[in-house]
Amino acid sequence: AIRLDGVAKSFGSTRALADVTLSAPAGTFLVLLGPSGCGKSTLLRVMAGLEAPAAGRLFLGGRDVAGLPPAARGIAMVFQSYALFPHLSVAENIVFGLRARGTARGEREARLARAADMLGLGALLARRPSQLSGGQQQRVALARAVVAEAPICLMDEPLSNLDAKLRAEMRREIRALQQRLGLTMVYVTHDQAEAMSMADQVVLMREGRIEQDATPAELYARPATVFAASFIGTPP
Ligand code: ATP
Ligand code: MG
Repeated sequence: AIRLDGVAKSFGSTRALADVTLSAPAGTFLVLLGPSGCGKSTLLRVMAGLEAPAAGRLFLGGRDVAGLPPAARGIAMVFQSYALFPHLSVAENIVFGLRARGTARGEREARLARAADMLGLGALLARRPSQLSGGQQQRVALARAVVAEAPICLMDEPLSNLDAKLRAEMRREIRALQQRLGLTMVYVTHDQAEAMSMADQVVLMREGRIEQDATPAELYARPATVFAASFIGTPP
């Protein structure tokens, strides 16, 4: 489960997040949706522990995570850029985080085999990221999140580098993976079609605030504001 209460964050005079309060039960696919600059990535980075909030409280998996470093928060994160290490093989990239945390070699290899199997990467483990297609790189980034076996997964526009066809395929794969593993997902996108097709719960943001927090069906049927209606593409 996830609970944020009154989270705020500024960068100098830019107020990136103002009084963000939301919650989601375990196993929810939650999408953070909104236009460029509305604070989606900042909110994800605060949850991950990569940015310290100026105010507010944050509970992940029932624990108050204030002051906990990213590695102790029970989360895995997938970035827009994938952030793969170019000088490491696919296999080394996937287990990098486990190595850093001192996971034993046998356990690393077992998790690597499972994740590679799940994401169809078995034949690519010895390659470098530069020898992979965009979709394959994306799968490596997903595998790296999967091996962490964290109950909460944070993804920041993970499909934005892919073409439309691959994006549709990867949406289905990510959703299936989330359901199979029972993950609590926080997925950032500015693409309303992506949000509507993947989410259990959509948190629509605008200028650092939550504009509406609803299921996709509710958001379609009853957009709360003119902004929500125009962003979702339904008449108010
Ligand atoms: P996009 O869809 O373009 O990725 P976003 O919703 O993820 O946008 P954020 O990256 O969270 O938006 O940014 C929210 C606001 O905070 C923006 O005005 C941005 O310029 C500002 N901001 C974010 N990070 C920093 C930073 N490190 N330093 C200064 N300002 C920042
Ligand atoms: Mg962003």
